[in-house]
Amino acid sequence: MAQIIDGKIVSKLVKDNIKSIIESKKISPSLAVILVGNDPASLTYVRNKTKECLEVGISPKDYHLPEDTPEEKLLELIGNLNKDDDIDGILVQLPLPKHINTNKILNAISPYKDVDGFHPENVGKLMIGTPFVEPCTPKGVIRLLEHYGISVEGKRAVVLGRSNIVGKPMAIMLLHRNATVTICHSKTKDLSEITKQADILVSAIGIPNFVKADMIKKDAVVIDVGINKVEENGKSKLVGDVDFENVKEVASYITPVPGGVGPMTRAMLLENTVNLALFRRSC
Ligand code: NAD
Repeated sequence: MAQIIDGKIVSKLVKDNIKSIIESKKISPSLAVILVGNDPASLTYVRNKTKECLEVGISPKDYHLPEDTPEEKLLELIGNLNKDDDIDGILVQLPLPKHINTNKILNAISPYKDVDGFHPENVGKLMIGTPFVEPCTPKGVIRLLEHYGISVEGKRAVVLGRSNIVGKPMAIMLLHRNATVTICHSKTKDLSEITKQADILVSAIGIPNFVKADMIKKDAVVIDVGINKVEENGKSKLVGDVDFENVKEVASYITPVPGGVGPMTRAMLLENTVNLALFRRSC
């Protein structure tokens, strides 16, 4: 049976480290968190991020804007936050309402305050192997692999999903660590023939229980990024992309949902904020 990769334990270590850096360097980093509208999942994410900021000594500055906020207003706010010396990081909670062009907004955030690592300049730096800010979810996955002593070099890694925020940066980060990487997506043919070759499988597609035990090579490392809400016995609960109960019998390591990648994503956001705060103070 697979060893469980515990994101709660590893994220706690990361957060303890962040707290001690903040205390020893005597800094008080601040993170602007912008939410447009009232999407229930986004409200929960923002609440959790705010709470965790306070736990480690980061000051969250919340900007909750109405659903019908014009794009220009949001750009104006970001422009002001870019210039504000009291702000170290800017996070815009996605998804944004349909009338707002997400790329335009992400491009407007200063690359030096871009805690999510989504600005094209930071994406480019990651691509060429000189990262400045790395996106939180794939960074959290790499940290989990490192913590459990799982080597990536020379391994066959398969990433399910090709989004800009998870799949693509995940593949690049595994490639830079010398894995042989395949990216699969919604148009991939014979998907399970590919997944069966994976020494390390990362799933980020958003389909509950999609990855079954017969799609996995024996002793593979299985990382489940998916977060999916399902109804079970009249109650809603969160599950990943992986059929955890059966896949854990075949894999050597596996992340649970919840308690795997999710807490690491939030911890990496805090780490990115502190790193940007330290960088700005060193300039
Ligand atoms: P997305 O919707 O932007 O991308 C989904 C990807 O899955 C696409 O690239 C698509 O091609 C691929 N896909 C869809 N159906 C497929 C299929 N049948 N076979 C193979 N590939 C298929 O999603 P995203 O933003 O990358 O998020 C993916 C999942 O990860 C979601 O469940 C999301 O909630 C979750 N997520 C979790 C965290 C975390 O911290 N754990 C962070 C971000 C996203």
